[in-house]
Amino acid sequence: MTQAPHGIPETLEPGVVRLTANNPSPFTNTGTQSYIVGATDIAVIDPGPVDAAHLASLIAAIDGRPVVAILCTHTHRDHSPLAADLKAAMGAPIIGCAALALDDLGPRADASFDADYAPDQVLADGYSIAGADWALTAVATPGHTSNHLCFALAASGALFSGDHVMGWSTSIVSPPDGDMGDYMASLDKLLGRDDRIYYPGHGAAVENPRRLVRGMMGHRKSREGAILRLLRDGEGDVAAMVRVMYSGLDSRMHPAAARSVLAHLIDLRKRGIVVGAENEPWAIVA
Ligand SMILES: [Zn+2]
Repeated sequence: MTQAPHGIPETLEPGVVRLTANNPSPFTNTGTQSYIVGATDIAVIDPGPVDAAHLASLIAAIDGRPVVAILCTHTHRDHSPLAADLKAAMGAPIIGCAALALDDLGPRADASFDADYAPDQVLADGYSIAGADWALTAVATPGHTSNHLCFALAASGALFSGDHVMGWSTSIVSPPDGDMGDYMASLDKLLGRDDRIYYPGHGAAVENPRRLVRGMMGHRKSREGAILRLLRDGEGDVAAMVRVMYSGLDSRMHPAAARSVLAHLIDLRKRGIVVGAENEPWAIVA
């Protein structure tokens, strides 16, 4: 399905409407995709970035129906900040992913995180929220972020996949909050499910989801193999690795690619295969 212009609601199936925010970029494709689920009462998934026009489009599409829940897949700034404005406008609770976890090493967040996100209720893995004619179940899928949830729509077989699996690009996995080992485990978790279609945060709906997930796992394995080959050849500098591995990529995306290479290296270090640290050279364990 081709994508409608920003602000124009698109019905993807009965009870699922997509609305794309006007924040296109190399990181967001044509923009963040918000979803309105339900017929008589509503859930809104990923309201999007702070944007008055997108808020007005969401409220128009909700069309006076009660909003049971505002759900966020994760708390990157292109997904969750508008939740607070939508809550104020509709009187609906924010339910879904946790605020970003902190750990012993200090805040895991960087500038891409929505530090103001404040959920009224956190949905743990396997827990559901229901309206009159829909139910959504949280599927914990850490990796892109530590707090990432997908949401499965009962009866439909649809999975709102956020930024975990997207229809246009692979996810960015940026340490310290992004974790390649978790990301791979979360892809494997989706392979064990039987979802019919994915509605991602960015990009087209995914109509053969398991094939795409399998392909993404293979892609990451081949990236890992390329990193190990470069290390064996004595190349331990992340920026130099990116120039070799991503020679075809828009150079604006090289810093993001460097985060993914770092995520692979940290995962390999956890597995005892390499030694090194961020901003230091990496080497394979002899
Ligand atoms: Zn994200």
